Amino acid sequence: MRPLPELTLATAWFWTSGSDGRLRVQRCTECATFVHPPVPICPACRSRAWEPTAVSGRGTIVGYTVNHHRWHPAFEPPYAIAVVALAEDPGVRLTTMIVGVDPTEVSIGQEVVVRFEHHDDVWLPLFEPTGELSAVDPVAEPERLLPRRPLDDGRFEHRSVLSGVGRSALGRRLMVDPLSLTVDACLEAVADAGLELEDIDGLSTYPGPAGMGMSEGGITTVEEALRLHPTWINGGGDLPGPGGSVVAAMLAVASGLCRHVLCFRTVWESSFAALGLAGPGGPRASGLSAWRAPFGAISAANWIAMNANQYLHRYGAPREMLGLIALNGRANAARNPAAIYRDPMTMDDYLSARPITSPFGLYDCDVPCDGSIAVVVSDAATADDRPHPAIRIEAVGTQILERVSWDQGTITHEPQVLGQAAHLWSRTSLRPADVDLALLYDGFTFNAISWLEALGFCGFGEAHDWLDHGRRIALDGELPVNPHGGQLSEGRTHGFGFLYEAVQQLRHDAGERQVAGAGTAVVTSGGGVPSSVLLLQRHHS
Ligand code: ZN
Repeated sequence: MRPLPELTLATAWFWTSGSDGRLRVQRCTECATFVHPPVPICPACRSRAWEPTAVSGRGTIVGYTVNHHRWHPAFEPPYAIAVVALAEDPGVRLTTMIVGVDPTEVSIGQEVVVRFEHHDDVWLPLFEPTGELSAVDPVAEPERLLPRRPLDDGRFEHRSVLSGVGRSALGRRLMVDPLSLTVDACLEAVADAGLELEDIDGLSTYPGPAGMGMSEGGITTVEEALRLHPTWINGGGDLPGPGGSVVAAMLAVASGLCRHVLCFRTVWESSFAALGLAGPGGPRASGLSAWRAPFGAISAANWIAMNANQYLHRYGAPREMLGLIALNGRANAARNPAAIYRDPMTMDDYLSARPITSPFGLYDCDVPCDGSIAVVVSDAATADDRPHPAIRIEAVGTQILERVSWDQGTITHEPQVLGQAAHLWSRTSLRPADVDLALLYDGFTFNAISWLEALGFCGFGEAHDWLDHGRRIALDGELPVNPHGGQLSEGRTHGFGFLYEAVQQLRHDAGERQVAGAGTAVVTSGGGVPSSVLLLQRHHS
């Protein structure tokens, strides 16, 4: 059965609008701004007065993907998903399915018109190409965003250090209780920091209790196991990405509430799937998912792929650009005993892999795995008592400057990286040229490209040339990227693997994959959803 959107008090009018064949969008009756998805206040003039307003139902495809993977039994691949910018206001977009055409013929710039499909109490707005191409590009060029500037030179970041890291076994289908993995990582991190469990007075995690093999159960589950009596706890998905749990811990330390906060992140997606626990979910899609799942846009792979195609179209970059990220990760993973995929990979291997959702094939997508990673955030005043060189946090970037609805804002890059990257550089006098290595979130290859450009290592649209056939990001290149292999080859530890590797590298403990003289590392986590970026240093500058 097709996942249909939940009809809520806020959205029922939208999903039933097609009963008379008309598409309607929320419009402010004070300033005439179109607003989508519906919210109870105009973001332009803050008026509370609005009404559903009929529009022409015409629009232009600004992002698309041809999905080849069966995510849900109701959707038979291949099929085309797209982001359509409406004719009345190209800032209003709908994620939708493109029908009435062979999926392989869908492309950026095609004009489309709505065609409703009726299911139960819902009229889904699908779109069909008119055969015309849009005369104008409805997508604006990306720009460097302007972050909020700090009030003074004081930085809470400098009051904390990363004092310890730990990691459980990492692998596919480990069939180990995820809480046990968490305890393994936590015990190792505390010992690595030269501490006893009794020294820990804070706990922080992301995303807290979550299903789908994405969590051991969160703070209460871990506290029940460890009995640490913390003075402060934090866990949830409404954080600036997985790294947001570390930023929150830094705030607790800087405020004096905690001295040593244990941060952890556990995934067991591989065993979860092997146990047959993964499934299509409930009959109705809710929240932001309601705007995507009914059209077959089930996975983050689909959502990011639509932006990746906009990028490739806009800048004329080839798929091989994405392949260079995958090949770099795989080449580095050969030197990482913990990595899941260590066999060499060629560009031919990359290009001929099973298609997932265009332009992504199998090797554009990271590896679901089981594993837990823990990091201890300590008061900088205790740094000299620790057995390893403390890793200093120079700055963080956390500001949301883009629309959080994935399809409404940034579409030339992965959303939620441009703002956070700009915010980072507003909190430090260091510049991209000062960075010795980059740990770039690579849940999909395109995410790493997005972070590279957002952080200013190269200009927008310049990554393919800048990569220089991959030489620039190789272990001996100008900016080594993901020396551990990234999530593409090491495994999807969901952000914390980058932190773990950064600490190893900045301690100069990374063995045969050590980046020579590594002193400053940038570490990103997340994107798509609100994210964060940290600038770490081996020594005080
Ligand atoms: Zn208004």
